Amino acid sequence: MIPITEYAGRDVAVFGLGRTGLSAAKALKAGGARVHAWDDNEETRAKAEAAGLTLSDINKRDWQTFAALVLSPGIPYKFPQPHRIVRMAEMTGVPIVGDMELFARAVQALPERARPKIVGITGTNGKSTTTALIGHILKHAGRDARIGGNIGTGVLDLAALHANAIYVLELSSYQLDLVKSLHCDVAVLLNMSPDHLDRHGGMEGYQAAKMRVFLNQTDRDTAVIGFDDVITQSIAIGLSARGPARVMQVSSSYALGRGVSAVDGKLYDSASGNAVLVGNLSECMALPGKHNHQNAAAAYAACRALGLDPQAIMDGLRTFPGLAHRMELVGTIDGVRFVNDSKATNAQAAEQALKSYDNIYWIAGGVAKAEGITPLAPYFPRITKAYLIGDAEENFAAALKGKVATQTCGTLDNAVQAAFRDARNAGNANPVILLSPACASFDQFRDFEHRGDTFRSIVEAMMPTELRELA
Ligand code: ADP
Repeated sequence: MIPITEYAGRDVAVFGLGRTGLSAAKALKAGGARVHAWDDNEETRAKAEAAGLTLSDINKRDWQTFAALVLSPGIPYKFPQPHRIVRMAEMTGVPIVGDMELFARAVQALPERARPKIVGITGTNGKSTTTALIGHILKHAGRDARIGGNIGTGVLDLAALHANAIYVLELSSYQLDLVKSLHCDVAVLLNMSPDHLDRHGGMEGYQAAKMRVFLNQTDRDTAVIGFDDVITQSIAIGLSARGPARVMQVSSSYALGRGVSAVDGKLYDSASGNAVLVGNLSECMALPGKHNHQNAAAAYAACRALGLDPQAIMDGLRTFPGLAHRMELVGTIDGVRFVNDSKATNAQAAEQALKSYDNIYWIAGGVAKAEGITPLAPYFPRITKAYLIGDAEENFAAALKGKVATQTCGTLDNAVQAAFRDARNAGNANPVILLSPACASFDQFRDFEHRGDTFRSIVEAMMPTELRELA
């Protein structure tokens, strides 16, 4: 844990007791603050109490006594409208901070030589993968990397600050909205497309939040920026012209004159102006597809900026085990691969998986997003047959009619069994059973993790049976 001493002996309100709120409350308490922790949700409050926090209803407190309000990133700050508690803080002049800001100030309070390095990663898609990847490469090269933020562990729950440590932090746009003091030695912006616009008052607000990853950077720092979409292209060009940090462009669409490019599955470093082949990304089993090559190029650029040798980085890319629920190979039975891409909760994310395989036995469905699966039509020829589940099964069957053979299966279990029967018997090359639902999961599962874990359990339960049959 990173104790926050800034508010020692003072009263601090903490509102929103999810993962980050809990860790902020504990870190403040450990640093000597009087913490007033609260959440509107009774169940969340009960969990916080069970985790050892003393609750204090901040609705009933004198706000003049609060030195700060620590707001969970899940709570609307400005849009669609400020939460009641945000208004209360504003009316009483209580400063609002997030856990990332507390972390940033704790780092800034140290003498320069004692400060750890910070790598911040943001973007619309690929944040978790790139954060885990950078963390893995650094650890593989023997560095003291600590991975957290919006992924896994809340930042204040990470191990205490140390000069040799490197904090590799996934930063959501909500977290970035609440930072002022964060100074990333390496800041990564992967890509940008419209997302969460309701929470940022439109595209401009969303972009402004993402740009905060570059806040406070100096000419000793590096800004790694994806060059594969028009928004980040213009950000990269603007920062190269006006920004203080060294800009390193990365791409999996173009061979960049200066930057890091993944072209036809090969990684090139042309930071010096001359393209040097670094290695073959097809050897990186957990990083299939062009989108993952963008993540790999960004991770390479970030690790180079931290002084790692190109081949040490390649070793890390090769040995990356991948993240659960993102094109995760959970097993192979009789030459049929089972891939769990449960995190693909919309068409855009499912597109990345459909692009990456041929001869696909596709399991899709759940609670569909507004765009449905129509944007996926260019990839229908890659699908041998679709197995549909959940609320969306009728709609998806209609969208696929006449284009792809479909079977409505109701449940995930039925879908996996049917797909396996077909894939094993068809005798086509390299079949893959792909759960990439293009849907939210809550009609049948708690969340996308529960859906992916269920898929993995079904496949694992099939394995011994298969082995017995083979014996
Ligand atoms: P995030 O943390 O930004 O949500 P993840 O790494 O968890 O991103 O990946 C979520 C989904 O987005 C994955 O299932 C994958 O299909 C897709 N994805 C991953 N990286 C990228 C990328 N660089 N560009 C576009 N889509 C991506």
